[in-house]
Amino acid sequence: MSHQEQQQVPRLKGDKFKVVIVGAGLGGLATAMAMAYAGYEVIVYEKIRKFLRLGDSLGVGENALRLLTRWGCRDKLVAIGNKSPIMSIRRWDTGEIIANQRLMDMAGYIGHRGDYHQAFFDRVEELGVPIHMGTPVVAYNEDDPSVTLADGTVVHADIIIGADGIKSQCRELVLGYEDKPLSSGYACYRAYCEGSRIRQDPHSKVLVERDAMNIWIGKDLHIVQNTCKDGEEFNWIITHLDTEDIDENWQQPGKVEDAVALVKDWDPTIVNAMALTPSCLDWKIVYRQPLPTWVSKSGKICLIGDSAHPHLPTSAQGASQATEDGACLAICLELAGKGNVRLATLTYERLRYARVLKTQKTGEDTRRRWHTALRDLDAGKAVDPESVKMQNDWVYALDAEADTRARFHAASEQIKKELAENGDKPVLPASLLGDDRYEIPTISPERRDEIAAIVEEHVKDMEKVLPLYRGVVRDGNGEITGRVGIPVAASA
Ligand SMILES: Cc1cc2nc3c(=O)[nH]c(=O)nc-3n(C[C@H](O)[C@H](O)[C@H](O)COP(=O)(O)OP(=O)(O)OC[C@H]3O[C@@H](n4cnc5c(N)ncnc54)[C@H](O)[C@@H]3O)c2cc1C
Repeated sequence: MSHQEQQQVPRLKGDKFKVVIVGAGLGGLATAMAMAYAGYEVIVYEKIRKFLRLGDSLGVGENALRLLTRWGCRDKLVAIGNKSPIMSIRRWDTGEIIANQRLMDMAGYIGHRGDYHQAFFDRVEELGVPIHMGTPVVAYNEDDPSVTLADGTVVHADIIIGADGIKSQCRELVLGYEDKPLSSGYACYRAYCEGSRIRQDPHSKVLVERDAMNIWIGKDLHIVQNTCKDGEEFNWIITHLDTEDIDENWQQPGKVEDAVALVKDWDPTIVNAMALTPSCLDWKIVYRQPLPTWVSKSGKICLIGDSAHPHLPTSAQGASQATEDGACLAICLELAGKGNVRLATLTYERLRYARVLKTQKTGEDTRRRWHTALRDLDAGKAVDPESVKMQNDWVYALDAEADTRARFHAASEQIKKELAENGDKPVLPASLLGDDRYEIPTISPERRDEIAAIVEEHVKDMEKVLPLYRGVVRDGNGEITGRVGIPVAASA
């Protein structure tokens, strides 16, 4: 990471704020860390009794890692992530590399979601924050801010934070209506398995010889392949046009053969690996319109993370934006002061809203570019490598804590003025945004060259140890005669 951050010492617990967090996903736990470091009394309720190692690959971007470093869990998180310095974006059929990109610029530290979740969980416990597992929140009261637990216990707090994920119940309270998901037109098959399975295939074993990340792009489809633990664990995700109406569920089983059938004529290096995985999940990618607000009428209940703004996997920012939310909200509470929770939550929303719309949009933008890039090739034109790269460099630059401190005063004064002018009714954040609300900041040519030079160095270094897999070579009948630069016999 560009700025070397130091772990900070949590402040002494004071009686400043009592904070209830509903949901102990990555967002709720990151927020618990932020609140504990700010010196607030925090309590977390989670409906699941015991977390299993669920999910597969997830990115923790440098923007989130900067905050998590201050909150004391950098080393554990960095140790979990994929160690490859680069990722390769490839043609669907030959696997030929179209572009190499720094892995960090793509998605940050990519590791198993379950491992990251455990590391967050451990840190929150170390900080002395109680996490009540198997304790669903069943009702909210926003006037006398409190939650009701399944056994009827009512817990009061200064602020209630709904970190309860994509199917958030808290969101309904905040909005006053049920926000139904819309079909995005896409779904993913996702699988995770031991790398030793993949070593059985002579074509695919190159993918687990060391940590690697590759993306194969084709018409309306892409496959992401990731490893962890130096190739001991292997993961693939195929994003495809969605024809079935399956539930929005991270645990819906799918059929590996259905996933393989979608890509049977693709590069066998990845297709054979997919066929060797024992099971997969079928995850429908739903779309939600940006919410009009993340803050309840009284301002004492607010949303963070997926309950406020789910991200597409191609943005690689879901967990990172939830972490930024926690950091921003903790500082808004501090700067607004006790008795001003509503001003704090409205300012948090104002400071975060525009940025989050853009990070959400990066996911759609990347997917569109990957799924259409090869049209140029089919039309006889070369593909510009820059056109298929993820463009997350701008996202990583933000220090959400420093940014909140810098912008809080102006934003909160503006909100006070609006409340006074509008009969205490807040102005909705979306109504303040211009036509460029989704415009993704571009990377400067200088920075692009700088990054390209770093990538080239990484490729050279990697090749000293093991040649980079560059794609397959086929004869006139479509039969594979070798890999680019490596005859089949030598690679088998
Ligand atoms: C099982 C699972 C697997 C995932 N796998 C991946 C993956 O492989 N890759 C990826 O990029 N992203 C994955 N995600 C999503 C990713 O974790 C989130 O996008 C991101 O971390 C932000 O999380 P969040 O904390 O806002 O929401 P979530 O991670 O969804 O956490 C919400 C938490 O709130 C709890 N909760 C809900 N309602 C209540 C209630 N009434 N009372 C108490 N607790 C409640 C839920 O049990 C859950 O633990 C997964 C999410 C889940 C839940």
